[in-house]
Amino acid sequence: MLRRDILKAGAAWLGSRCLPAHNGALCTAASPAGSDVGFRHRGYLGWITDLSSQPDPHAAWPSMRLDDRLLEDYRRQYELLARLGFNEISIWGLYVSDAWPLDITSCVPPERGRRVEKLIEAAHRHGIKVLSGLGVYSWGFREIIKAHPKLAPTSPYAMCASDPDAWLWMEKVIDFVFSRFPIDGVSMQSADQGRCECPKCSEYSTAEYHALINVRVSEYIRAQWSGKIIGVNSWGLPLGDEASVPSLQKIGKMADYFIDARGAQQWEHEGLRRRLIASMACDFGTIGGPQVEPPQHWRRDRWFLPTLRRTGEHIAALAADGGRACEYFFHIIANPGDEICLRLAGKMLNAPRVAWQKHLHEAVEEMFEPRNEQATGEITRLLLRCEEAYFKYLPSNISGTISLEPLVGDRPGPPIYLTERLTADQRSGYGAELEAVVPGFERLVAEVGQPEKIRTTIACLKSVLADLR
Ligand SMILES: [Zn+2]
Repeated sequence: MLRRDILKAGAAWLGSRCLPAHNGALCTAASPAGSDVGFRHRGYLGWITDLSSQPDPHAAWPSMRLDDRLLEDYRRQYELLARLGFNEISIWGLYVSDAWPLDITSCVPPERGRRVEKLIEAAHRHGIKVLSGLGVYSWGFREIIKAHPKLAPTSPYAMCASDPDAWLWMEKVIDFVFSRFPIDGVSMQSADQGRCECPKCSEYSTAEYHALINVRVSEYIRAQWSGKIIGVNSWGLPLGDEASVPSLQKIGKMADYFIDARGAQQWEHEGLRRRLIASMACDFGTIGGPQVEPPQHWRRDRWFLPTLRRTGEHIAALAADGGRACEYFFHIIANPGDEICLRLAGKMLNAPRVAWQKHLHEAVEEMFEPRNEQATGEITRLLLRCEEAYFKYLPSNISGTISLEPLVGDRPGPPIYLTERLTADQRSGYGAELEAVVPGFERLVAEVGQPEKIRTTIACLKSVLADLR
């Protein structure tokens, strides 16, 4: 379709009456007066070691470690996730990191296979469905492309959507992914590593190109592996204008949910996202607001960056626009700032119309076990103060990832969230604020049933102060 036609289609759509929102079981289930409508896809997503209680300081990113310790971390997180009401987990790295081997199947040695099976069984025991990350025409095809350069005429990472042989490779990967492990679905990404720009593919706009390959893969999965959940994540795909709407609607007809990784900040005018959501046949969602990217190489007490108000406001606004899906990033519960955010996010996804402050109050009570109401209030106030101390310097309405250290590397990296996101003056303001909250947390050690959580919080704050010096 020419760009002119897309604009016309978008305009026609905007002028028409929007279709009713998705009519799935959860949305139509009779709910008592005053009750909330939770999200249908309360998902949790990350690379396989992103939730680990232990860092992998010397592994190249993404670490593929899957040992007994990590399995134990998963068991502990599943218990918490189930309590919080998460119902899906999307894991990247069950099979490979970034390159399928040429025979596809040799990527999972028997011992690793047994551990992956345990990881999936444990999720199912807690009522959580397991989705695998799935690269669509890119992410994972590096070795295949190296051996068959014709598959990708314009990129070392992205196969050509117009080459029938590239589809045969994609099909092989899909069949292996669904036959090797009893997964419940896939969270797909096609845009993170770019696209093919050969003359044939160049006839498509970027949104059309990614719709084409996501729909092609979804149709195949529906036909060959029926009953599986299909999520499509837009990572790397610019959205937000009316021209991209018809392509998103095509994806919506085939997928169960669509994730807009950047959130409302990228929509060109107010109301467009709401009307898009109403017109899509699938559930729509985001990654849940600003996400602190799990730092693979760092000690778990090196940062303290809660995103409470922003998570609460982001999920509430998404729900108000009709959003019913989320792929919330893995959080490291060995870090109390991460744990409290995960708890709040789970509660918000279940009851997004309840004020986030009420959910936060409950989350603080459950996590720290304060001895009285005053201590609950004080912990909450200090946590929110820590959030503002950093985020007041960043754009409001931020959604997306905040890298603490450089993502790609094989050793602990420098604290770029301090050096690259803040000016020298802002760093000194942030440091002064954190210095000021430490005594408050110290007084709380004797006021809670979980003093270790407060002590770890203090250790985290002191680590940040050391990084600021
Ligand atoms: Zn091409």
